[in-house]
Amino acid sequence: MERELTEKCAVFGALTTSRYATRLRYYGLFALQHRGQESSGIASSIEGGLKRHAGEGLVAHVYRAEDLDDLKSSLAIGHNRYATSGGNPGDQVQPIVDSTLGFAFAHNGNLPETVKLEKFLSEHGIRHDDVSDSRMMALAIGCYMSEGNSLTAAIELAWPLFTGAFLCVAMTEDTIAGFRDAYGIRPLSLGKLDDGYAIASETCAFDTVGAAFLRDIKPGELVTVTAQGVKYKQVVVSPRTALDVFEYVYFARPDSMIMGRRVNEVRRKLGENLAREFKIEADVVVPVPDSAIPAALGYAAATGIRFDHGFIKNRYIHRTFIKPTQEMRECDVKTKLNPVPEAVMGKRVIVIDDSIVRGTTTAQIVDMLYGAGATQVHVLVSSPPVKFPDFYGINTPDPRELIASYMTEDEIRDQMGAGSLGYLSMDGMISATGWPKNKLNTSSFDGEYPIDIGDRARVILRSR
Ligand code: AMP
Repeated sequence: MERELTEKCAVFGALTTSRYATRLRYYGLFALQHRGQESSGIASSIEGGLKRHAGEGLVAHVYRAEDLDDLKSSLAIGHNRYATSGGNPGDQVQPIVDSTLGFAFAHNGNLPETVKLEKFLSEHGIRHDDVSDSRMMALAIGCYMSEGNSLTAAIELAWPLFTGAFLCVAMTEDTIAGFRDAYGIRPLSLGKLDDGYAIASETCAFDTVGAAFLRDIKPGELVTVTAQGVKYKQVVVSPRTALDVFEYVYFARPDSMIMGRRVNEVRRKLGENLAREFKIEADVVVPVPDSAIPAALGYAAATGIRFDHGFIKNRYIHRTFIKPTQEMRECDVKTKLNPVPEAVMGKRVIVIDDSIVRGTTTAQIVDMLYGAGATQVHVLVSSPPVKFPDFYGINTPDPRELIASYMTEDEIRDQMGAGSLGYLSMDGMISATGWPKNKLNTSSFDGEYPIDIGDRARVILRSR
């Protein structure tokens, strides 16, 4: 059976000497809501063992005040899950808790290749059919713990079984561990609280909970926090950084710092680089809110063309990307965005989006702008064409659904009815990050996968 692609998108853990750690986790998960809106869970170390509260939906819906009171402790981890394409729903909820071992585990990322892991579990007589890659990771760590190893030792022993993108937090009643794959595909950082430490997918969560950002957890590194302090161990001796560039382009919150760069600044530079590559006579630049606002500001500043808000976004709707049917996706775009006629009427409009994936959003954006009276609509995209699926934790669809993998740019432009369409070049995107290409994962754009994708390669071949 082909294992379903799932994504696990935000983790947060904290250890404090106060009893407020659970509230911290709640606010931390709140700050990381953009990374996952399907479900949320917190596992807490309370007297007598570990306790979990988890549920479907947004952080604000999952926890009532009493739930948080029940979880009160100085040590807990939390997880927000992003959309998933199938699988057993009960199996998807995280953190995963093993009450017998007193161990909880949460994972963000995806293991595209699980042959070694499955073999290990089979050899140890552990059932693993129809379980997610995250649960298999937890089972392997748990297996080593059941042999008498500490949490840290068990993670180190199980590590060679994991092939893919993973950043994880795990806990026992007195320890929190955070670790990141050898490529550092997704971000993970360590923060200092007045009376403890926090580990989070993105630094924006530290600002919310009042933690000072200490540093990124390095690719291949395991960080262990106990009441005695922090210990660092570089488990993978020669890691190779390959941060997913999509974090800068779209995924992360603009106020987060990733690998020493403020995401907002990178996005502005993406817009400045677009301005270098595309000179267009126009009256106004409008962003597709929210993710393209910094790029549109950068483009407007570099060209001198006026910036305006051409769309108002309904703040109460979450990310609409993964929906079962195309019809629902199209309806979602209209629910989410409404044009501002005064900003675009009678004007030559440049609209900037951060990425085109299936093409659903952009086609409707163009329609809405013409409908609101724009005389010309030019589309600029602050990343190159997305031609390949992501296998490391972001759910981009089968290549047959990625518009740039089956249409030329001219065809896409014509289908959208735009006056022109321009994608930022690969160089333009890379240079905005300030990192060399070999420090980034650019697989969605060029199909170069830094970590073995095993059988998943079939998905790409199948589409050719
Ligand atoms: P599409 O309509 O399929 O072309 O999707 C493009 C829109 O979805 C852009 O406005 C992006 O901001 C957003 N987007 C890109 N990648 C993702 C993702 N992995 N999850 C959710 N939204 C995304």
